[in-house]
Amino acid sequence: MPKNYRAELTGVFGDPVDGNPTGAMEEAGFRARNLNYRYITARVLPEALGAAIAGARAMQMKGFNLTMPHKVRVIPFLDGISEAARAIGAVNTVYRENGRLIGENTDGKGFVEALGMVGVSLDGKRVALLGAGGAAKAIGVECALAGAAKITVVNRNRARGEELAGAILKNTVADAEYLPWEGAASIPACDILVNATPVGLGSGEKPDIDYTGIAPGMVAADVVFNPEWTAFLNEAKSRGATAVTGLGMLACQGARNFELWTGERAPFDAMYEALKAEFAE
Ligand code: NDP
Repeated sequence: MPKNYRAELTGVFGDPVDGNPTGAMEEAGFRARNLNYRYITARVLPEALGAAIAGARAMQMKGFNLTMPHKVRVIPFLDGISEAARAIGAVNTVYRENGRLIGENTDGKGFVEALGMVGVSLDGKRVALLGAGGAAKAIGVECALAGAAKITVVNRNRARGEELAGAILKNTVADAEYLPWEGAASIPACDILVNATPVGLGSGEKPDIDYTGIAPGMVAADVVFNPEWTAFLNEAKSRGATAVTGLGMLACQGARNFELWTGERAPFDAMYEALKAEFAE
């Protein structure tokens, strides 16, 4: 039989994109499953997004990720988007279905799965979200869709916080509210506390909240994945909370993308190890 040298293409479009570690994780997955797939980390300027999508169609890419600044502006270029991506208002993953490009948002689904991996279900839970940006939106909507009873959004910017609480009320059956974040915010009554701000990224800083509100039995989760063990998580753990890292969320999200693109079960451990290796000192 003649050899087949043709590779299936996946990748990420963004700007900046140089420090994006997703390719190392996805390619480790392709190797582990012996798939002739590649993941291309491509710098695409905002004005070139339409051309990049046309190129993806021309090359019959299996799918691709979107990162800053394309997650919202990609939507008009696609053939359809999932209900969850519509509620979140952003797409981070595109896959091909019968030749059509479909937008999905796997950030929040990755979060829900990372909780599941430590045995935490969202059913009937109260979630407090610090932040109301892209990551918070995806997490808030998906936690509500996964059965959370109430989502409390704590954010500095009122308009963004109210918008997220409103989107959850409109698109899910969960209760939702916005609380302003001024000074060392007290933690609202909750079972799961999420840092969905970039505070702690590449630093020892932690969100300005009153940590005495963390009680044993609570779950604390961070979206920040570098360092994996942030000051927020270490503080929460020292107060008896179960900690869920942003790196685990990123790996779960990557595994979902792998499955959408290849149709095969993701080799989670190989992908998670490859991701960890990228951040090892
Ligand atoms: P956005 O810029 O969309 O939102 C940032 C949010 O954080 C805003 O609500 C902002 O508040 C708030 N914020 C920023 N700085 C502070 C501060 N000093 N104190 C209080 N609130 C603050 O960012 P994203 O949501 O896209 O990304 C947030 C983080 O999530 C990034 O570090 C990103 O790398 C990470 N991420 C991780 C993923 C994973 O899989 N682990 C997936 C996606 C993102 P305000 O509205 O008041 O300005």
